[in-house]
Amino acid sequence: MNISPVVFDEEADISEYATFSHGLYIGGQWRPSSDGRVIEVFDPSTEAVIAAVPDATPADAAAAVNAAAKAAAGWRETAPRKRSEILRRCFELMTERAETLAALISLENGKALRDARGEVAYAAEFFRWNAEEAVRISGEFGLAPSGANRIVVDYQPIGICVLVTPWNFPAAMATRKIAPALAAGCTVILKPASETPLTAYALAALYEDAGVPPGVINVLTTSNPGPLTAAMLADPRVRKLSFTGSTGVGRVLLAEAARHVISCSMELGGNAPFIVFDDADLEAALDGAMIAKMRNAGEACTAANRLYVQAGIHDAFAEGLRKRMAALQIGPGIDAETECGPMITRKAVEKIDRLVKDAVHRGARILCGGAVADAKGYFYPPTVLCDVPPTAEMAHQEIFGPVAPIMRFDDEAEVIARANDTEYGLAAYIYTRDLAKGMRVASRIESGMIALNRGLMSDPAAPFGGVKQSGLGREGGQKHGISEFLEAKYIAVTI
Ligand code: NAD
Repeated sequence: MNISPVVFDEEADISEYATFSHGLYIGGQWRPSSDGRVIEVFDPSTEAVIAAVPDATPADAAAAVNAAAKAAAGWRETAPRKRSEILRRCFELMTERAETLAALISLENGKALRDARGEVAYAAEFFRWNAEEAVRISGEFGLAPSGANRIVVDYQPIGICVLVTPWNFPAAMATRKIAPALAAGCTVILKPASETPLTAYALAALYEDAGVPPGVINVLTTSNPGPLTAAMLADPRVRKLSFTGSTGVGRVLLAEAARHVISCSMELGGNAPFIVFDDADLEAALDGAMIAKMRNAGEACTAANRLYVQAGIHDAFAEGLRKRMAALQIGPGIDAETECGPMITRKAVEKIDRLVKDAVHRGARILCGGAVADAKGYFYPPTVLCDVPPTAEMAHQEIFGPVAPIMRFDDEAEVIARANDTEYGLAAYIYTRDLAKGMRVASRIESGMIALNRGLMSDPAAPFGGVKQSGLGREGGQKHGISEFLEAKYIAVTI
């Protein structure tokens, strides 16, 4: 079958989803899967099928690895300045196409358009930041302690990278990997989530328009990621796996990668504590809680999952949060007024509902929301719970939805112990007017990232990542993100 290339037209009617679902993107060609099967894509706001994309087979994955291998030498030898300029062009094109990309994200993911616009801006920044990093990869030169020789350290591209990304940030989770990989001189195969493939393919067309050579970026969608990813990792030419997704799948992939001793970067799940001390600025804490909880309707790895509020400010905070959450406009993400869109799937709604029922069964009180409406679309209402006991399931696993469980605490040592009582360690939030206390608590919370008196910490210029079961490695930041795609080569030389 001959598939025409994706043509990006800013004036095009975004409801013509087929424009973005042409084929697998392998070696600069758009092609169907080798067995002709497709994956249906749903609009979570209406439950309607809006497009179909090819369902790749392991044979397609092998073709993608071949394409990445064929392009590897050319890309690695492309001058850093040239690579930088292509990445910069990706940033510019994403900025020019921001509205169309945001609409596409909203349609297939369900998130509110304003969140989708924020995601596109964030996703584009990875290209700008890494365009700047591409020309600043430097090595080391020193004298061995014995004085016998010089130690030269060169940083080289690690090789072909398999990138696996989730549905909750279909653009940003991809660009957060692709941009540093390309800046480092690597070629890649992206396997996006099958729930949100259209954004990945729209971006593939954009990379081509920006001048990324054929085979440097390949994109494959599949309904059966296990065997397909395993086949790619078993190819000795693949040297890197960068994964963003759940901790459970991360563990499976780490085991798979271990069989072939492949370098892994893992951005996994979270269970962020949001701590409000008595001396916090109440309005600022509420503003921060709304961002930390409700960005993407709670479908974020950094989402506030447990809100610990000190006894003196507890009631005022709970009432303030109830008012704000109850006032949110629920609706299809694509509607401009929507503040809380649908969840990704029916299964996600059922999981949230089960967690809320479990908390209530254990003694939590519902301040607002808490019931699924009998209507089309995967909606769950913004919900605030208080008196949530530490035994509630939602205190130990990701809610991944618009539910804010409030838990009262009395003192600093107690809240630190409770915040750390989780296998996760991705993000944490602290609100206090006492900076020394804020820094002290931040240093004791077991978490890769802390937002102090802020509801948001993600920034391409800062190292993003978790400790404990939340992951391995960092994305973004000065040197951190790009170093995940570089390998040190030591040369001993006598001069
Ligand atoms: P998921 O783990 O189910 O899927 C993530 C990706 O892995 C998808 O592309 C999926 O198709 C693929 N996958 C699933 N099973 C696989 C297998 N056996 N082998 C290979 N690939 C497989 O996660 P999700 O539901 O898409 O995303 C939500 C999760 O992602 C949450 O846990 C969230 O916290 C996490 N997340 C983490 C970060 C971070 O930066 N730490 C960012 C966003 C999301």
